[in-house]
Amino acid sequence: MKKAIYAGSFDPITSGHVDIIKRGAKVFDKIYVVLMENTTKSHLFSLDERVRFLKESIKDLGDRVEVDVYTGLIADYCNIKDTYILIRGLRALTDFEYEFQMATINRKLNKEVESVFFVASNEYTYVSSSNIKQIAEFGGDVSTMVPECVNKALIEKYKGE
Ligand code: ADP
Repeated sequence: MKKAIYAGSFDPITSGHVDIIKRGAKVFDKIYVVLMENTTKSHLFSLDERVRFLKESIKDLGDRVEVDVYTGLIADYCNIKDTYILIRGLRALTDFEYEFQMATINRKLNKEVESVFFVASNEYTYVSSSNIKQIAEFGGDVSTMVPECVNKALIEKYKGE
Protein backbone atom coordinates (compact mmCIF):
# COMPACT_ATOMS: atom_id res chain seq x y z
CA MET A 1 0.00 0.00 0.00
CA LYS A 2 1.48 3.36 -1.10
CA LYS A 3 1.02 5.94 1.62
CA ALA A 4 1.84 9.65 1.81
CA ILE A 5 1.47 12.62 4.13
CA TYR A 6 0.08 16.06 3.28
CA ALA A 7 0.69 18.54 6.08
CA GLY A 8 -0.23 22.17 6.65
CA SER A 9 -1.91 24.50 9.07
CA PHE A 10 -5.06 24.71 6.92
CA ASP A 11 -6.34 27.98 8.39
CA PRO A 12 -8.59 27.45 6.53
CA ILE A 13 -8.42 24.67 3.94
CA THR A 14 -8.83 26.11 0.42
CA SER A 15 -9.93 24.58 -2.89
CA GLY A 16 -6.22 24.60 -3.82
CA HIS A 17 -5.46 22.25 -0.93
CA VAL A 18 -8.44 20.03 -1.82
CA ASP A 19 -7.22 19.88 -5.43
CA ILE A 20 -3.76 18.71 -4.32
CA ILE A 21 -5.27 16.08 -2.00
CA LYS A 22 -7.45 14.77 -4.87
CA ARG A 23 -4.47 14.58 -7.20
CA GLY A 24 -2.53 12.81 -4.49
CA ALA A 25 -5.32 10.29 -4.03
CA LYS A 26 -4.90 9.26 -7.70
CA VAL A 27 -1.32 8.26 -7.01
CA PHE A 28 -1.38 7.03 -3.41
CA ASP A 29 -3.64 4.46 -1.74
CA LYS A 30 -3.71 6.38 1.52
CA ILE A 31 -3.01 10.00 2.43
CA TYR A 32 -2.67 11.27 5.97
CA VAL A 33 -3.82 14.89 5.86
CA VAL A 34 -2.14 16.34 8.91
CA LEU A 35 -3.05 19.55 10.59
CA MET A 36 0.21 20.76 12.05
CA GLU A 37 -0.68 22.54 15.26
CA ASN A 38 1.86 25.28 15.79
CA THR A 39 1.11 26.78 19.17
CA THR A 40 3.07 29.97 18.53
CA LYS A 41 1.07 30.88 15.44
CA SER A 42 -2.28 32.62 15.86
CA HIS A 43 -5.13 31.24 13.81
CA LEU A 44 -8.43 32.61 12.57
CA PHE A 45 -10.20 29.29 13.11
CA SER A 46 -9.87 27.01 16.14
CA LEU A 47 -8.28 23.60 15.85
CA ASP A 48 -11.71 21.93 16.06
CA GLU A 49 -13.09 24.13 13.30
CA ARG A 50 -10.09 23.50 11.04
CA VAL A 51 -10.40 19.74 11.57
CA ARG A 52 -14.13 19.88 10.84
CA PHE A 53 -13.56 21.82 7.58
CA LEU A 54 -10.86 19.37 6.51
CA LYS A 55 -13.06 16.32 7.13
CA GLU A 56 -16.07 17.90 5.44
CA SER A 57 -14.08 19.03 2.39
CA ILE A 58 -12.56 15.65 1.58
CA LYS A 59 -15.29 13.29 2.72
CA ASP A 60 -15.89 12.14 -0.88
CA LEU A 61 -12.51 10.43 -0.84
CA GLY A 62 -13.62 8.06 1.94
CA ASP A 63 -11.00 6.08 3.81
CA ARG A 64 -8.25 6.78 1.27
CA VAL A 65 -7.76 9.96 3.27
CA GLU A 66 -7.35 10.23 7.01
CA VAL A 67 -7.32 13.54 8.90
CA ASP A 68 -4.92 13.79 11.82
CA VAL A 69 -3.48 16.50 14.10
CA TYR A 70 0.16 16.70 15.13
CA THR A 71 2.35 19.09 17.07
CA GLY A 72 6.02 18.59 16.34
CA LEU A 73 8.34 17.92 13.46
CA ILE A 74 6.92 16.35 10.34
CA ALA A 75 10.13 14.31 10.11
CA ASP A 76 9.14 12.65 13.42
CA TYR A 77 5.54 12.20 12.35
CA CYS A 78 6.84 10.18 9.37
CA ASN A 79 8.36 7.65 11.79
CA ILE A 80 5.14 7.42 13.81
CA LYS A 81 3.13 6.61 10.67
CA ASP A 82 5.92 4.64 9.00
CA THR A 83 5.21 6.81 5.95
CA TYR A 84 8.03 8.74 4.33
CA ILE A 85 6.53 10.53 1.34
CA LEU A 86 5.51 14.15 1.81
CA ILE A 87 3.09 15.64 -0.68
CA ARG A 88 3.49 19.35 -1.36
CA GLY A 89 1.81 21.71 -3.80
CA LEU A 90 3.59 24.15 -6.09
CA ARG A 91 1.75 27.25 -7.16
CA ALA A 92 4.44 29.37 -8.74
CA LEU A 93 8.15 29.90 -8.81
CA THR A 94 7.81 31.84 -5.57
CA ASP A 95 6.81 28.61 -3.77
CA PHE A 96 9.86 26.82 -5.10
CA GLU A 97 12.51 28.37 -2.89
CA TYR A 98 10.60 27.74 0.34
CA GLU A 99 9.59 24.22 -0.72
CA PHE A 100 13.15 23.40 -1.77
CA GLN A 101 14.38 24.49 1.68
CA MET A 102 11.71 22.50 3.50
CA ALA A 103 12.36 19.37 1.43
CA THR A 104 16.07 19.62 2.10
CA ILE A 105 15.63 20.24 5.84
CA ASN A 106 13.15 17.39 6.21
CA ARG A 107 15.53 15.01 4.44
CA LYS A 108 18.31 16.17 6.73
CA LEU A 109 16.14 15.50 9.80
CA ASN A 110 14.99 12.11 8.52
CA LYS A 111 16.95 10.57 5.68
CA GLU A 112 14.04 8.33 4.68
CA VAL A 113 11.87 11.31 3.75
CA GLU A 114 11.10 12.12 0.10
CA SER A 115 9.05 15.16 -0.89
CA VAL A 116 6.87 14.94 -4.00
CA PHE A 117 5.32 17.92 -5.69
CA PHE A 118 2.00 18.33 -7.43
CA VAL A 119 1.45 21.36 -9.62
CA ALA A 120 -1.52 23.53 -8.64
CA SER A 121 -4.47 23.89 -11.03
CA ASN A 122 -4.42 27.15 -12.97
CA GLU A 123 -7.60 28.29 -11.28
CA TYR A 124 -6.00 28.03 -7.82
CA THR A 125 -2.47 29.29 -8.40
CA TYR A 126 -3.33 32.59 -6.74
CA VAL A 127 -5.24 31.02 -3.82
CA SER A 128 -3.69 30.91 -0.35
CA SER A 129 -5.23 30.68 3.12
CA SER A 130 -3.94 34.15 3.93
CA ASN A 131 -5.29 35.94 0.86
CA ILE A 132 -8.65 34.18 1.32
CA LYS A 133 -8.87 35.60 4.85
CA GLN A 134 -8.00 39.09 3.67
CA ILE A 135 -10.57 39.08 0.87
CA ALA A 136 -13.28 37.64 3.15
CA GLU A 137 -12.54 40.18 5.88
CA PHE A 138 -13.42 42.98 3.48
CA GLY A 139 -16.55 41.27 2.21
CA GLY A 140 -15.11 39.87 -1.04
CA ASP A 141 -16.55 36.72 -2.60
CA VAL A 142 -14.30 33.68 -2.08
CA SER A 143 -16.95 31.05 -2.83
CA THR A 144 -15.04 29.66 -5.85
CA MET A 145 -11.78 29.42 -3.90
CA VAL A 146 -12.80 27.51 -0.78
CA PRO A 147 -15.05 24.55 0.07
CA GLU A 148 -18.64 25.49 0.86
CA CYS A 149 -18.34 24.88 4.62
CA VAL A 150 -15.38 27.29 4.75
CA ASN A 151 -17.19 29.94 2.72
CA LYS A 152 -20.14 29.80 5.12
CA ALA A 153 -17.88 30.03 8.16
CA LEU A 154 -15.99 33.03 6.71
CA ILE A 155 -19.23 34.88 5.99
CA GLU A 156 -20.41 34.13 9.53
CA LYS A 157 -17.09 35.21 11.05
CA TYR A 158 -16.98 38.58 9.30
CA LYS A 159 -20.66 39.45 9.19
CA GLY A 160 -21.46 42.82 10.66
CA GLU A 161 -17.88 44.06 10.41
P1 ADP B 1 1.05 26.22 5.90
O1 ADP B 1 -0.27 26.62 6.40
O2 ADP B 1 1.72 25.12 6.66
O3 ADP B 1 1.94 27.37 5.52
P2 ADP B 1 0.08 26.04 3.29
O4 ADP B 1 -1.38 26.09 3.46
O5 ADP B 1 0.74 27.30 2.85
O6 ADP B 1 0.73 25.48 4.60
O7 ADP B 1 0.48 24.93 2.28
C1 ADP B 1 0.55 23.56 2.48
C2 ADP B 1 0.94 22.98 1.14
O8 ADP B 1 -0.12 23.19 0.21
C3 ADP B 1 2.17 23.65 0.50
O9 ADP B 1 2.91 22.69 -0.21
C4 ADP B 1 1.56 24.66 -0.44
O10 ADP B 1 2.42 24.96 -1.52
C5 ADP B 1 0.34 23.91 -0.91
N1 ADP B 1 -0.70 24.83 -1.38
C6 ADP B 1 -1.24 25.86 -0.70
N2 ADP B 1 -2.17 26.50 -1.46
C7 ADP B 1 -2.21 25.84 -2.64
C8 ADP B 1 -2.95 26.03 -3.86
N3 ADP B 1 -3.81 27.04 -4.01
N4 ADP B 1 -2.73 25.15 -4.87
C9 ADP B 1 -1.84 24.15 -4.72
N5 ADP B 1 -1.10 23.93 -3.61
C10 ADP B 1 -1.27 24.76 -2.58
